[in-house]
Amino acid sequence: MSHYITPKILAGYVAPEYMMLIDGAWQKSQSGETSSRLAPGHGTIVGRYQSATVADAKLAIASARKAFDHGPWPRMKAAERSKFLHKVADLIEQNREKIAHLDTIESGKPIQQVLSEIDGAIDIWRYAASLARTLYGESYNNLGEHTLGIVLREPIGVVSIITPWNFPFLIVSQKLPFALAAGCTAVVKPSELSSGSTLFLGQLLLDAGLPTGVVNIISGKGAVFGDVLTGDADVDMISFTGSTGVGCSAMAIAARTMKKVSMELGGKNPQIVFPDADLEAFVDAAVFGGYFNAGECCNAGSRLIVHESIVENVTDRIASLSKRVRVGDPLNPETQVGAIITPLHFEKISSYIAGAKEEGAEVALGGERLDLGMGDYMAPTILTNVKPEMKVAHEEIFGPVISILKFEIKTEALDIANSTQFGLSASVWSKDIDTCLEISRGVRAGTVWVNTFMDGTPELPFGGVKQSGLGRELGRHSVEDYTESKTLNIHQGARTSWWVSNA
Ligand code: NAD
Repeated sequence: MSHYITPKILAGYVAPEYMMLIDGAWQKSQSGETSSRLAPGHGTIVGRYQSATVADAKLAIASARKAFDHGPWPRMKAAERSKFLHKVADLIEQNREKIAHLDTIESGKPIQQVLSEIDGAIDIWRYAASLARTLYGESYNNLGEHTLGIVLREPIGVVSIITPWNFPFLIVSQKLPFALAAGCTAVVKPSELSSGSTLFLGQLLLDAGLPTGVVNIISGKGAVFGDVLTGDADVDMISFTGSTGVGCSAMAIAARTMKKVSMELGGKNPQIVFPDADLEAFVDAAVFGGYFNAGECCNAGSRLIVHESIVENVTDRIASLSKRVRVGDPLNPETQVGAIITPLHFEKISSYIAGAKEEGAEVALGGERLDLGMGDYMAPTILTNVKPEMKVAHEEIFGPVISILKFEIKTEALDIANSTQFGLSASVWSKDIDTCLEISRGVRAGTVWVNTFMDGTPELPFGGVKQSGLGRELGRHSVEDYTESKTLNIHQGARTSWWVSNA
């Protein structure tokens, strides 16, 4: 079988017109404007979406505010919120194929991969449901006979949830169920490139019995109304996943009204491999880490930092495995790598490859467009002779491009690994426990994989250091992140008068 899978025309598919969920009802944009989305893998229109305005964003925030200040959601028993989240998880499971289809046609990623993402999302909703009932504060009975201290955990309030296009359903599921578990209300804004599954989730939330205004979902361009979501005084917290550039400006706007922010941003993640590693396992992880989601992944293992004694062997093996990667029709269950999200992004990836060549790197494999008759497909690409100072070694390319760098001694590997502005994730490959620990402890990253790559589970927190972000998602503290503490300092018995204490 060829490893390029020609896309089939989306025959018979009728592009739906999506509405926005505002104040418990499906509504059009106040401007009456919509935008449409071309499937990156097939080139046909797959949906029409409302283009929200500033006024729509304000209505959505007002609804979430009212639901938080006066509605039942923050006041009900955690057990009831937990039951609701379980119900949503069940509904997602019942609609697994439908959601996967939406994400696949809008984002161009392979259907089999999206099905696993939806399964991961279901697991996260259930995890959040279990955590909802474990939220508690602190009490202090050791402050003297007249004082009892209680620290309450309260939901923080209205949360603006802003998500990117590359893992549409998974990323909203890393945020919303935890915010809901804490008792918050939300305004959710998916990427304008892949809004369908998040809007569909809105219907599942309504079907599960969500009270009015607890979740509002608006679609359209962040550039048009994003400042309202990040700056409005009625919003208490921003939970943002996207690029470092947009994240920085969102934070600056949020700072004006002193909002709490959670930022999941870009990455340029190193995989460091030593000669004693299981090279077969490493080569597999290198190919997976480089091309998974067409490299359009914050966690992409886009920098391989390889010991000089094995660099030739490893490069040959990665190249030979890369040639077998099945690229093509996102809807074909055989496909491993789908289409690039937009023609503009395709150009950006191509210009990184051209720039690398100008800087002295060599294209050992790929580097060009795959003409599959329709859609934007990029060949799996390997760049060799890459030096840490080259752009491709420290900027996020967000395409199926692996850069191979070499090192001589451990400290050099660490220096290279830490030489970018990012610090999302990293991995180390060696059979020597000391080597693994030295690299794991020395690398500046939010997650380090040891002899594996990109494994995840809801129990383990995820997030970045440096300009890869602020805060963590998932893990047992993830509900707590959507809360604020309130101190109750309670006096027991007669209070000592100010005049007596000053005497
Ligand atoms: P992006 O920053 O362009 O957009 C992210 C979201 O922000 C979109 O919904 C967009 O409409 C919105 N937005 C745009 N301008 C805004 C504004 N002024 N105010 C508020 N919101 C605004 O990112 P993208 O291209 O959609 O996604 C790719 C990026 O996301 C990559 O950098 C990737 O590394 C990052 N990412 C990070 C993680 C993580 O967990 N760390 C996960 C996935 C993606």
